[in-house]
Amino acid sequence: MSSPEILRLSPSRVSEFENCPQLYKYRVIDQLPQPPSLDAERGTLVHTILHDLFESPAIERTPQTAIDLLPSRWRAQLDAKPDLAAMVSDEKEWLDRAQSLIQTYFTLENPTTFEATHRELHLENDFDSNIYLHGYVDRLDVAPSGEVRIIDYKTGKAPKPGWEEKALFQLRVYALLYFKTNNVLPKLLQLIYLGDAKTVKNSPTLSDLEATEKILKRVARDIFSSTEKDYWPPKPSRLCDWCYFKNICPAHTD
Ligand code: SF4
Repeated sequence: MSSPEILRLSPSRVSEFENCPQLYKYRVIDQLPQPPSLDAERGTLVHTILHDLFESPAIERTPQTAIDLLPSRWRAQLDAKPDLAAMVSDEKEWLDRAQSLIQTYFTLENPTTFEATHRELHLENDFDSNIYLHGYVDRLDVAPSGEVRIIDYKTGKAPKPGWEEKALFQLRVYALLYFKTNNVLPKLLQLIYLGDAKTVKNSPTLSDLEATEKILKRVARDIFSSTEKDYWPPKPSRLCDWCYFKNICPAHTD
């Protein structure tokens, strides 16, 4: 198998390959279809509401405004993915859970006190002659002082102590992309975990970004090498219990 001329990398693609090259192959190389996951769809709904909340003037960005968005945004999601209706057996419970996550958001930030400069911002960079790096940032705020913070919302729980660095990788890639495009080092990276009302914050340094760049280049080399050899070893872990491809994966079928 020949290597792709240009490798498209994003933080999620990097994590996928690092977690399990076989899973990366199923998703990226073979492009096998996967049914929607309820957790991912709930995440999409909550992200949509937190995105649209900032359409309102600052003073109106209250919990009630956000909750009022729920029915229409959920209907739009159902229109786009009709299969979802059959997957959600108890719609009230589903919407209650989404509402609870939204209410948690307001315990962690007060959106009436700042402006979201960018939401769902696409950052991209021709990272190397054969690597295109990109990602979508949930929110990027530029303060009047010019300081930049990058925010990502998670509907799950915060990582256990000792795992924060791994969780921050995604935001460091965004910081690197922003730095390469604007020559501004973001002041703050912030992960907001709505599952347990926690945040993980970090102020990146230039050496953090250099280390992130090295990781990206190493992973890109590994992907090129795997592609050339058509070698995608499965890497069994507790993630297998959530993996849609478990019933065809050689680690579980041989
Ligand atoms: S079942 Fe486990 S080892 Fe197999 S592809 Fe999925 S994550 Fe990888």
